[in-house]
Amino acid sequence: MTPQHIDNALTGRRALVTGAGRGIGRSIALALAAAGADVAITSRSPNEIEQVAVAIRERGRSSLAVPCDVTDVTQVTTMVERITDEFGLIDILVNNAGSGGSHKFINHPDDLWHQMMDVNLNSVYYVTKAVVPGMAEQRWGRVINIASVASKVGAKYVAAYTAAKHGVLGLTRALAVEFATQGVTVNAICPGYVDTPMTDDTIARISALTGMSEDEARATLEKTSPQRRLIEADEIAAMTVFLAQDAARGITGQGINIDGGAVMF
Ligand code: NDP
Repeated sequence: MTPQHIDNALTGRRALVTGAGRGIGRSIALALAAAGADVAITSRSPNEIEQVAVAIRERGRSSLAVPCDVTDVTQVTTMVERITDEFGLIDILVNNAGSGGSHKFINHPDDLWHQMMDVNLNSVYYVTKAVVPGMAEQRWGRVINIASVASKVGAKYVAAYTAAKHGVLGLTRALAVEFATQGVTVNAICPGYVDTPMTDDTIARISALTGMSEDEARATLEKTSPQRRLIEADEIAAMTVFLAQDAARGITGQGINIDGGAVMF
């Protein structure tokens, strides 16, 4: 396969990336565009997604930035209808929007539980439910869920986030089987700590709770990986681009770890 072929592997495909204003979602949106796809993007911050849309158009691809809170099913329905009307059926869906939160389980706030379920799991259900019928209709589709190593292993103080991310992997596996004969693959990418604004928030939280400096808190996160480093958002984007290609049509129902070797199943 020539580099030219790889560069254009997604030409003619239309993608939707949730949570694409910054961090991993932004990198994914730009990488899909670099591989030839037209890319619609969404998040709650219009200014951030508009900047990403400009960067996509600068790469010669079409883009549409549609603000939406993916925890609100009505907003999700409207967002997907608008993108489908103005852009066409979505071939590649990347469910990336999510956020973290932690608390000891004793006296765990119920609203934190519901918030984690809404943003990390229910959102994936709402957006996929709105998009996947179009994929089944055209008998080609890619659903790529940005899950977490927290989809596979437990850790203290993150019960709600972990339960939600385990749910994302369960949904991924169930849908992979349900759509297996319809040309639609459904996979999850399970990152360890990635160098993004979300991890900056985690570092600030650890620092505030423990009295560690932010450098010490960052080093603590780096040590969770055998490679002793944070993953870069571009590494998640590269796997997303691969899973979106025809070459990856046999890969479905998988949770692919990108974590420097910390989790091996
Ligand atoms: P960031 O906080 O850097 O970015 C999150 C993106 O999601 C933003 O664009 C944000 O925009 C959007 N978002 C958050 N809530 C909503 C909402 N309710 N509706 C629409 N958009 C929303 O996070 P990361 O890039 O680090 O994380 C992306 C994904 O990767 C998440 O699912 C996260 O759980 C997962 N992940 C991250 C890891 C890490 O170490 N960073 C590790 C493993 C998994 P806005 O707030 O403007 O709406």
